[in-house]
Amino acid sequence: DSKNIVLNVNGIEVIYNHVILVLKGVSLQVPEGRIVALLGGNGAGKTTTLRAVSNLLQGERGEVTKGSIELRGDRIENLSPAELVRRGVVQVMEGRHCFAHLTIEENLLTGAYTRAGKAEVEASLEKVYGYFPRLKLRRGSQAAYTSGGEQQMCAIGRALMANPSVVLLDEPSMGLAPQIVEEVFEIVKDLNVKERVTFLLAEQNTNMALRYADYGYIMESGRIVMDGPAHELASNEDVKEFYLGMG
Ligand code: ATP
Repeated sequence: DSKNIVLNVNGIEVIYNHVILVLKGVSLQVPEGRIVALLGGNGAGKTTTLRAVSNLLQGERGEVTKGSIELRGDRIENLSPAELVRRGVVQVMEGRHCFAHLTIEENLLTGAYTRAGKAEVEASLEKVYGYFPRLKLRRGSQAAYTSGGEQQMCAIGRALMANPSVVLLDEPSMGLAPQIVEEVFEIVKDLNVKERVTFLLAEQNTNMALRYADYGYIMESGRIVMDGPAHELASNEDVKEFYLGMG
């Protein structure tokens, strides 16, 4: 049912520096309330796809040159990143990007810039601490002195401060120990179930992503080469051979 598609990426092409064609017609759909995984190796185009959706390509000298992107039926390719945040679409960048010299709580508060009043911000902060008790414990610590897992949690928490309906999550597992990756994914699942946050999740860790996602798309060299329900991809022989060892 197309009415339940929150994000519709339709045949997008992305070119960097006017000449490097990186996405060669990518189409994908993200239904409301689901976790959709975007899988594939290094350089396949996952980050570029997320950046196209959140309109963060400009800083990278990239542009969408073909295709369209719709949020609940409205075209969004020309909206600024800030307007997208106001409409509920927030990206958590790869590599976490916490402000090292700010405390965890100050970092979280930077995510609330689109929110109206103090009470609203306080409520969001308490909600984030509810999902991430570790962040509450570390609220006064400078991000630079927290662990990789805590910084990843901080980056997700900061995105939640904007009260998003769709989170574009770029490689949350990167550089984290398996046990911490699992902890982060459990919280993502929790947010998905309890807060109905929709996730588009880029991951090289195919195993882990397919355990938590509902549906998956596999990218190679700027194209989607396979897609299907997560449990089907996880038991597919080609996927097992080529992707399940990764991450
Ligand atoms: P990774 O896991 O490494 O982030 P990815 O699947 O997310 O991989 P992208 O980062 O989207 O892949 O990169 C896709 C391709 O675009 C790669 O070949 C990369 O070298 C190229 N690319 C990325 N950013 C730029 C840029 N700013 N200018 C030129 N080429 C770029």
